[in-house]
Amino acid sequence: MPYFASLLNQKTVFIEDKCNLACLNCNIGGYPANSFLLKYIRPSLLHETVNVVGGEPLQSSNLLSSLSQIKRLDKYCRVWTNGLMIPSILKNIESYVDEFVIYCPTHHPESYRYLTGHDQFHELKAVLDFLEESFNGVITLSIPVELDTLPYLQELYDAFYNYPVRFLIHYNRLGSFDKESLAYLRRFRHVTRCAVVASSDYSLYSCKGYPYATDNYLQRIRYSFLEWGQWFLHRRGPMALLKSVLG
Ligand code: SF4
Repeated sequence: MPYFASLLNQKTVFIEDKCNLACLNCNIGGYPANSFLLKYIRPSLLHETVNVVGGEPLQSSNLLSSLSQIKRLDKYCRVWTNGLMIPSILKNIESYVDEFVIYCPTHHPESYRYLTGHDQFHELKAVLDFLEESFNGVITLSIPVELDTLPYLQELYDAFYNYPVRFLIHYNRLGSFDKESLAYLRRFRHVTRCAVVASSDYSLYSCKGYPYATDNYLQRIRYSFLEWGQWFLHRRGPMALLKSVLG
């Protein structure tokens, strides 16, 4: 089934409300884990993407059962993670996952410690090496940008360019970007493998590049179109879009 259809039809499920990082300004906590899963994930005629989020979803005790349920229903399964997972977990789940979206706020070990409270930036690189070797699906880096991290965006891109990853750059539309910074940021829309998504739906720095409410249809449609426009029109061209629609 065309990937296009699943982009237009997305749902988000929380499977864990705790996280092994302690990011500055994290605004993810407080959602009841699992409450959306059984209610929303059903067989459907249209192809569907399911965004699996937390906290840190890979810490969930329901991880395997949740992912296998999603896969059994033939959904495109996208897991949003901070990437600090041990290879044995990865090995167990990678056949259920179509895409890992990995939180990568910086490429400097010291800034990483400051932003996430975690000292082991090298673990993130080790996981990327592991995925590069063994995972057949899509790997996307989720990169939240603020005014003070924007000057390092090009360096971050260069640092991970050799990995087979996509770069999902997201920023808060209501943040303190001036005109010049915004223009610089938006230029990344035209850089290979990059997408730039603005959000007014969350106000703080986070690992998630999309709003995670599942009950707001307008929001879901808006983000699906944003993503669709970014990946297909900018990066793949109208012919790729046509092929994906026709299957
Ligand atoms: S921003 Fe994401 S990775 Fe960081 S503490 Fe919050 S849930 Fe965890």
